[in-house]
Amino acid sequence: QVRVRFAPSPTGPLHIGGVRTALFNYLFAKKHNGTFILRIEDTDQNRYVEGAEQYIIDALNWCNIPFDEGPNHNEKFGPYRQSERKHLYRDYAEKLIASGNAYYAFDTAESLDHHRKDHETQGKTFIYNWHNRKLLLNSLALSKEETQKKLDNGEDYVIRFKSPKDQTLQLTDIVRGDISIDTNILDDKVLFKSDGMPTYHLANIVDDHLMEITHVIRGEEWLPSLALHYQLYEAFGWEKPQFAHLPLLLKPTGKGKLSKRDGDKLGFPVFPLEWKDPQTGDISRGYKEDGYFADGLINFLAFLGWNPGTEQEQFTLEELVDAFELERVHKSGARFDPDKIKWFNHQYMQYQNDDELAEIFKESQPQLKDIDVNYVAMVVGLIKERATFISDFWDLSSYFFEAPKTYDEKAFAKIMTNDARELMSELEQIITHTSDFTVENIQTDVKAWIAKKGVGFGKVMQPLRLALVGAMQGPDVFEIMFMIGKAETVQRIDYLVQ
Ligand code: GLU
Repeated sequence: QVRVRFAPSPTGPLHIGGVRTALFNYLFAKKHNGTFILRIEDTDQNRYVEGAEQYIIDALNWCNIPFDEGPNHNEKFGPYRQSERKHLYRDYAEKLIASGNAYYAFDTAESLDHHRKDHETQGKTFIYNWHNRKLLLNSLALSKEETQKKLDNGEDYVIRFKSPKDQTLQLTDIVRGDISIDTNILDDKVLFKSDGMPTYHLANIVDDHLMEITHVIRGEEWLPSLALHYQLYEAFGWEKPQFAHLPLLLKPTGKGKLSKRDGDKLGFPVFPLEWKDPQTGDISRGYKEDGYFADGLINFLAFLGWNPGTEQEQFTLEELVDAFELERVHKSGARFDPDKIKWFNHQYMQYQNDDELAEIFKESQPQLKDIDVNYVAMVVGLIKERATFISDFWDLSSYFFEAPKTYDEKAFAKIMTNDARELMSELEQIITHTSDFTVENIQTDVKAWIAKKGVGFGKVMQPLRLALVGAMQGPDVFEIMFMIGKAETVQRIDYLVQ
């Protein structure tokens, strides 16, 4: 039974890299008929941000990658918020002390700072481990009694993991393969703090174990923690999950890591949904509010660090589930190209239902308030192949709803010769006499007249398009005439030749 978790810390809005991590977990779970879990890692109270948890849940739902177990939902191994599991962790930290895998440390921040600076001036890095601690901090292992005395005195402490000396750890990652680590370069990381809260490392391992997680799929920034996590599993005597670290997301230039601040700087959203900072009130743009389809965004994100090994680029969520394999995730950073998201959006636009698009279009455009939604849907069907966003619709289609107010100047100067005026006046008569005003009938009558006149097709079509659209673009002119109707067509031609 595959069980995976997405374990964000609610320190702000979930950025697009987090959504990619959630997506890969989701795809892997669904592919193996497994369970996708949301766990909120909120043990760092200083960094807690109001509204962030709800944002994460809303974002996953908008992206159509909902969790099977999570806060207030199928709490099989709940609670799923670490702050509500607080009482659990101390026992585990104490177990590690009892087995000799962890110890109390009473160093002050000043003394640690002092040693760090001292090392820096000598061009060395300060590694805090059991061995150095004895040498440098002159704090030989305290006896049980001495430790108890300090604890009873209420001295500040942390519980640190005791990493072994002179060992080589063999780690395995599904994406990166085998990795060996010399334990002498590892710090003795803090597991538990005197404020009664575990650190990320302890809480994460304990919860992954208790929640029976089988695969840990997370961002590359956690790779340096893997050695400690391996050792924690071993110290507890627990079976390890398998690990897969996903490649970094890179800036559009391909240089450097994509950051939360890049969105504002480079002019594209880096968040799925709009976010209002509860402190400053600043608004950060979101893909949803910017008019992107969730399916297109998901399709795009799936390709950041993974590919199916075929030419196929467009995938529904179900197809992604079918095709997804962790073995096909690559190591090298994935370049984030906002133009490619637009491309996906354009593709997905073509699959959207015209009636639904019409509803949204109508809502967004006051001029359409009293227009029949079926008519709007037909217009949408004619113009959406040129649109990337619904917000492009009005510019692409306003002439279906109101006569052009101006004509494209260059086109007007080039096309509106005396000949063209005469042709349009005649055409006006032809159209007035077309009886049943269908696309076919208009086409038959107009084409017959053109053939009889012996003029080039373009000589008629160009000024006609100018009259109807005001510019030299848009779908088939016969479709346009049919849509706006006979009276309006005649009126527009009349207005042009005046
Ligand atoms: N809470 C960590 C984060 O914010 C989770 C890392 C992990 O998945 O182990 O990304």
